[in-house]
Amino acid sequence: MAIGEITGIVAGTAFASRQELYDSRIHRTLRAGIVGSGSTGAESIVLSGGYVDDQDLGSEIIYTGHGGRDPATGRQIADQVFTRQNQALVTSCLQGLPVRVIRGSEHDAPQSPDAGYRYDGLYRVESYWHASGADGFLVCRFRLLALTSDRAQPSVVSADRSSSVGAAPRIMSTVLRIVRDTAVSRRVKELHHFQCQACGIRLECEGGPYAEAAHIRPLGAPHDGPDLMGNVLCLCPNHHVLFDNGAFGIADDFSFIGLGGRLRTSADHIIDRANLDYQRGMWGRS
Ligand SMILES: [Zn+2]
Repeated sequence: MAIGEITGIVAGTAFASRQELYDSRIHRTLRAGIVGSGSTGAESIVLSGGYVDDQDLGSEIIYTGHGGRDPATGRQIADQVFTRQNQALVTSCLQGLPVRVIRGSEHDAPQSPDAGYRYDGLYRVESYWHASGADGFLVCRFRLLALTSDRAQPSVVSADRSSSVGAAPRIMSTVLRIVRDTAVSRRVKELHHFQCQACGIRLECEGGPYAEAAHIRPLGAPHDGPDLMGNVLCLCPNHHVLFDNGAFGIADDFSFIGLGGRLRTSADHIIDRANLDYQRGMWGRS
């Protein structure tokens, strides 16, 4: 899998054909609109006018999932479900992974290229849901938002950065969240089967489980915690917020401080106690 940017190919790069997209590894299939799997997330999508329910607002895209169509007429003849390529986009949403977006000339939108295809940079899958499509069957829908100051969103991002103190950190935190969902955090979630290490809950969403990776010693200045498994916990959103905001700490024997119970551990997930000590120190529990 190749999630994220492809080295040497910037947003705005034009491609004459699906074969060129394929050869460049920007979109690694010749026919399907979505590349990816439920286990790894979606690499890329192509907007090529296949679905009447798609909406393209530039930096925001409402994208219709795959399946349930009559190949002869293009009409929807069955409900779409959150499996296969649709599940790939669900995984991208639940794990905060970036998706490459390509627009084709057949796609009916002002942003579409005049001919061929254009890579328009990285988007994140902000949400997903089922909806009744134009033909009366359920379709899987995904809201994608542009991540970076690429062609799809040039003025918005630059305006935010220059004129609004509040907006820039929001954009940066979005990007950081993406960067943070690394192979390390995915591995930790998988080791714990997406169960919270504080309460044991596993949130079962339509299309897959959801958990968050919490860094014990925070990333970034001034803490400069490492993105290593020994510094990452698998937590539910509630316990992630509580932990990040000092509601509890974790003793060296993994019992909680400020909360009943103890950390659920795995023999394959060795936690660096120096990071626990650092987090305790941040909240006066040294
Ligand atoms: Zn929890």
